[in-house]
Amino acid sequence: MKRHPLDKLRMAMQLAFLIGMPLLYIFTDLLKGMHWVSYLFVWLIFAANFLFGKLFCSHLCPFGLLSETVFKLKRKWIGEKWEIGRWSLPRNLLRSLKYIFLAALFLPDVPDMSGTLLIAIIVTAIIAGGIFDNMFFCKYLCFANATSNIIRFTVFILAVLAINAITAGTGIRFPFVAVAAIGGYLLEIYFKKAEYNLSMLHVHRDVHKCTGCGKCSKACPFAVDIKSVKRVVDIDCNLCGECVRECRNDALKMGICNTRPNQNRIRGIWFAPLATAILLAMAFCWILYN
Ligand code: SF4
Ligand code: SF4
Repeated sequence: MKRHPLDKLRMAMQLAFLIGMPLLYIFTDLLKGMHWVSYLFVWLIFAANFLFGKLFCSHLCPFGLLSETVFKLKRKWIGEKWEIGRWSLPRNLLRSLKYIFLAALFLPDVPDMSGTLLIAIIVTAIIAGGIFDNMFFCKYLCFANATSNIIRFTVFILAVLAINAITAGTGIRFPFVAVAAIGGYLLEIYFKKAEYNLSMLHVHRDVHKCTGCGKCSKACPFAVDIKSVKRVVDIDCNLCGECVRECRNDALKMGICNTRPNQNRIRGIWFAPLATAILLAMAFCWILYN
């Protein structure tokens, strides 16, 4: 496996979030007033997604780390299996759940649930669901992933934001969250990819080096069909880099690249963790400043 020293940053940041968040919750009052967490999440989910893609999901989210671990253990113990019917009707219906949860967060009387109970439910869903279907929680239940997907349909979300701003001026109440959630869901299951956006960071495949072995897709937690595309714009891709590490033929590169040979600008598996670390540092500066 190809490893750059900066590549290890991903694991370090994920573990810091996985271990640090519960410790902060148990031993300090910092997480009780959730406003700074909102700053962090708003910045990393919104800003990072516009510019780079789902860096939060792959580099910081502790639930993403747990889901990936379940996937890797399952792959190791049960063996490599192609995921059948990735976009089948039952799976497409399941994908709607995360948008329903996202919309439900904005209902006026959301029932209060203790943090511990919520985390217990999520961890159970990650492990039990992950055995049934890879990355079950991320694909079907996570409202942060639903938010990321909506943002990745940049033209759509900008249009919805513009309509919201115009109607706010006229006093008409526009159901912003419901429209964003329904639109995001329909776009996800119809297009299955987010091609036209500002996101600069992608996995690129060199067709001259690729032998079509398919090892990349088997290593991908979301079973993205990488060998059929030149540039991965799949809606599920969270830039984890597992496919790049797995390819023995050096056919995959992650970065801000041109697809023409020798014309790559910035490329390297280290770019995603570095970008995440910089965004994270900027988020903390923003929190301290406010
Ligand atoms: S692992 Fe590499 S060579 Fe094999 S299909 Fe994927 S990109 Fe091509
Ligand atoms: S396509 Fe590659 S970078 Fe994207 S989720 Fe799959 S393994 Fe990770």
